[in-house]
Amino acid sequence: MSFESLGLLPELLRAVREQGYEHPTPIQAQAIPLVLEGRDLLARAQTGTGKTAGFTLPLLQLLAPHASSSASPARHPIRALILTPTRELAMQVEESVRTYGKHIPLRSATIFGGVNINPQTKALRAGVEILVATPGRLLDHHQQGNLNFSQLEILVLDEADRMLDMGFIRDIQKIISLLPTSRQTLLFSATFTDEIKQLASKFLKNPASVQITPQNTAAELVRQVVHPVDRERKRALLAHLITSRKLEQVLVFTRTKHGANRLSEQLDKDGISSMAIHGNKSQPQRIKALEEFKKGSVRVLVATDIAARGLDIDQLPHVVNYELPQVPEDYIHRIGRTGRAGSEGEALSLVCVDEHKLLKDIEKLLRKELPKDVIHGYAPDPSIPAEPIQTGRQGGGGRSRGPARAPRPSAGAAPRGERGRHPARPSNRGK
Ligand code: AMP
Repeated sequence: MSFESLGLLPELLRAVREQGYEHPTPIQAQAIPLVLEGRDLLARAQTGTGKTAGFTLPLLQLLAPHASSSASPARHPIRALILTPTRELAMQVEESVRTYGKHIPLRSATIFGGVNINPQTKALRAGVEILVATPGRLLDHHQQGNLNFSQLEILVLDEADRMLDMGFIRDIQKIISLLPTSRQTLLFSATFTDEIKQLASKFLKNPASVQITPQNTAAELVRQVVHPVDRERKRALLAHLITSRKLEQVLVFTRTKHGANRLSEQLDKDGISSMAIHGNKSQPQRIKALEEFKKGSVRVLVATDIAARGLDIDQLPHVVNYELPQVPEDYIHRIGRTGRAGSEGEALSLVCVDEHKLLKDIEKLLRKELPKDVIHGYAPDPSIPAEPIQTGRQGGGGRSRGPARAPRPSAGAAPRGERGRHPARPSNRGK
């Protein structure tokens, strides 16, 4: 299968070639022709499958006929809206729009919370055909009268399951109510829960369905190993693994923001350069951490699930689960950071006695047992009893299983994604 055979425009084929892509990934091969036909699409695909190009390429093609180099804002109405759960993902999606749309004169912009609204307003007023946005800030702009969706043709809900988990359902419904009903709608989700099916049946018209299961994508290429270890010895083991195996570019997951900060500081003390990335960090701080990590001047990036969601780091060699996630699907998202689009990766999980149940749940989801490798000198002490896991729900990156249903908080300084997740819960961070 070649990109040419998908019927893409020469301008897009050129951009794809410039990226060095040789063949479409399975999600691209399936989704692109359906979107080009004008069908609504319900696609099950996780990050790492090439899903972004799967919707961006055909979207650009559908909009290309009326692309204009005119400076007049009126010639650049909003024609496509891509909603994402987090600002990182929004930025990365827009980067893809720019990359693949390099040879087509369409304008794009990203809008998300936690940063000054004025530059976004200015960009919107200048005219933008492709808008990538997180739901909360989009509604802020709507309230300020900055948006006109009368000419909208395509809506993409990217990582829709995550948006629902984060409590964005009302925002999404409100946003969709502002859009023309004649639009084409594409919904991407890593899981097909009942909630997602409901959302699809409400807002998609006779959608084509495409499923790329984690089992036959990135996850399969990832070497996964569990290192059993005592709770209190995880940090020492992590430092040992990094130094003895000379690991570079290691993405480490913790459950809470507090845990991410603490681990990052401790690694620094151990002489292993590291930075933490989570929802309490300002946008410039997050960007800086990601850049330093990408260029190799920081060896370890410690992240919470939500902060790492959608991070686009090509061919990341190592992912470490310093703590297992509360929700098994998050494990798949995490290891999706490595072994991406054809390159092999490695996912190490440091698992203590408290996490045996979580590990069982993950193995059930993967439908296989993960190999266990006790590192010499770090064997767990069997006399240590299990303790309840601190999820850091109130202040951390832990994920709530319960549906978050709360009114959208007003625009403010805290990153919207994490506020939306744990609304109106008292802070209990000092525990
Ligand atoms: P995504 O699932 O959209 O986050 O994409 C995962 C990664 O795969 C990104 O780094 C893309 O640049 C890369 N990618 C997307 N499509 C292809 C392709 N056809 N061949 C090789 N790499 C790709």
